[in-house]
Amino acid sequence: MLRQEYDAIVVGGSFAGLAVAARLRGNVLLIDRNEIGTEQTSACGTTLNVLESLGCLDSVLQVYCNGFIHTPSRTIQYDLLYPFCALDYQKLCQTLYERSQAKVLRANVLGLSNGYVETDSGLFRGKCIVDASGWKAVLASSLKSDFVRKSDMSFGIETTVDYQGEGLHFWCDSGLVRPGVGWFFPCGKQARIGIGSYNGHTGLVPNLISLLNRFRLQPAEMHGGFLPCRLRKSTIGNVFLVGDAAGQCEPLTGFGIRPALYFGTKCGDIVQRVIEGRMSLEDGLKQYEGEVGPFRRYHTFLRWLQDNLMSLPDAPLTRFLAFISWRPVTHHILNWHRKHSLLEVTFPQ
Ligand SMILES: Cc1cc2nc3c(=O)[nH]c(=O)nc-3n(C[C@H](O)[C@H](O)[C@H](O)COP(=O)(O)OP(=O)(O)OC[C@H]3O[C@@H](n4cnc5c(N)ncnc54)[C@H](O)[C@@H]3O)c2cc1C
Repeated sequence: MLRQEYDAIVVGGSFAGLAVAARLRGNVLLIDRNEIGTEQTSACGTTLNVLESLGCLDSVLQVYCNGFIHTPSRTIQYDLLYPFCALDYQKLCQTLYERSQAKVLRANVLGLSNGYVETDSGLFRGKCIVDASGWKAVLASSLKSDFVRKSDMSFGIETTVDYQGEGLHFWCDSGLVRPGVGWFFPCGKQARIGIGSYNGHTGLVPNLISLLNRFRLQPAEMHGGFLPCRLRKSTIGNVFLVGDAAGQCEPLTGFGIRPALYFGTKCGDIVQRVIEGRMSLEDGLKQYEGEVGPFRRYHTFLRWLQDNLMSLPDAPLTRFLAFISWRPVTHHILNWHRKHSLLEVTFPQ
């Protein structure tokens, strides 16, 4: 069996893995089973300031200043105090990849075995190992069989159709899915339309068709997958976990791109210090855990809202959503967000 040694091995070449790799210099191996940037699983909506801060504004497809929540009885409009945008997945991945010096290996990773990353193309050893393989957390799961729990995951599917529109749209409607949401993210000449179930129900095709029928649209190719909705451990053994592998995707909103990019960048900087011998691996793992720690309270609160708010019947849920669209309340919520979320963090250059 092939055995090669690297300064760092990053498993997963999507948002989290590329954010890590973009910060690393040295002998780095990035492993993904797919070609980088080709397997989009997400609606790719995020706050505009993430891409601005990363210097990736060229991947923006459409900007939104307004959000709309549709319930069976009314449509509630919100001013998005932070502009959102839809991004071009392939373009963003390509830009981040071009910033890295990593060697890419296209292979299926099977797990960790005696400190080696085991793949269908051989075994590889790294001084630092990062699991950025998404919700399945392929390395962590091989170390701890119950690391991934289905009860802590939502599920979503979506399709991209030719349809133009404005603003971010969500449906909280028991006629479509409960507990769950529908969404419509316009992006230029097309729109990403999807349905998510908070209890991880996977049979969502009829629900998606029902949402598309409201626009007299037919589904095109569909994609989707699970979204973790509970923060997991951010290290296991000597492995750093980033993005969905660490359960960093936000519950309730399902927004996982920002945390994946943010913690990926932080993790990359720490791993680089370990590679250069400026920090021990043990200290690096501890420091990374310390970076993720403050996010836990916010994450737990969103999970509480997901469990308690989104199962309410349509009428009280509509009243609550209308109440929070009132500007003073929206501002209050935003201030809370400023303190606890990653909304205003900037990415190190
Ligand atoms: C339908 C849907 C819509 C979503 N919409 C949004 C949205 O609009 N905004 C938002 O912020 N978030 C959204 N999310 C969540 C978001 O997609 C994730 O949080 C985000 O992709 C996490 O990034 P990641 O890099 O951690 O993992 P992933 O993007 O899942 O990447 C994991 C990578 O690892 C590779 N990999 C996995 N297993 C192996 C293996 N065994 N061997 C080799 N390679 C492997 C995969 O090929 C992939 O490239 C959505 C999710 C879904 C399912």
